[in-house]
Amino acid sequence: MRVVLLGPPGSGKGTCAKIIGEMYDVPVITTGDMLRAAVASVSPLGVTAKGYMERGELVPDDLVNDLVAERLREPDAGNGFILDGYPRSPKQAEALEKILEQTGKRLDHVLHVNLEDETIIDRLSKRRSCPKCGAIFHLDNKPPSTSERCDVCATGLVQRNDDKPEVIRRRLEVYREKTRPLLDFYEQKGAINAIRGDIDLKELPATLKRVLS
Ligand code: ADP
Ligand code: ZN
Repeated sequence: MRVVLLGPPGSGKGTCAKIIGEMYDVPVITTGDMLRAAVASVSPLGVTAKGYMERGELVPDDLVNDLVAERLREPDAGNGFILDGYPRSPKQAEALEKILEQTGKRLDHVLHVNLEDETIIDRLSKRRSCPKCGAIFHLDNKPPSTSERCDVCATGLVQRNDDKPEVIRRRLEVYREKTRPLLDFYEQKGAINAIRGDIDLKELPATLKRVLS
């Protein structure tokens, strides 16, 4: 199963990606997480990416394209993959097309996870994540059981730097400008499936299964 997830920041792509990855036993490739790991490890990529990410801008296409190309060459991606947060610009979509061509593979689905700006801003500003294991919480909808600590590993939760209101607004603009046009690009290649990003978590696996079957 090879799937691309499209949708604004905070729409719920990551949650969908995780469920789909488990359902079909394929790796979830999340460029945001890979870039945050690069920043944390102060690798050359991380040093360059940091400023862009803090401002809510896209990291330059060439860097992200190389990162993903390399990841897709790993053996576990041979049976399929879920791309979460990539492609995010026309140049990235072209790069992905090239990779697929070279490997003689096709995407099975492009899934658009959508949500209104208002809900997104509320979600992202109340989002807290675990810097150690990556678990994600929401102060109202999915609060951690111990205040501000991860339920999985008890690490203190943090707010992502780019989940501050001004940066959220910029990320939404960048989405509209650079990523939204990809909906047309993929629509022309074949059908896009769409789901709302605020489907009840209990219903989400069944809904995803239906949409992807
Ligand atoms: P969200 O989808 O909630 O905005 P992500 O974790 O996917 O968050 O991305 C966080 C930041 O990482 C983006 O604002 C951007 O700076 C960078 N980033 C992630 N994926 C890409 C990509 N495919 N191309 C360029 N930059 C990216
Ligand atoms: Zn944790």
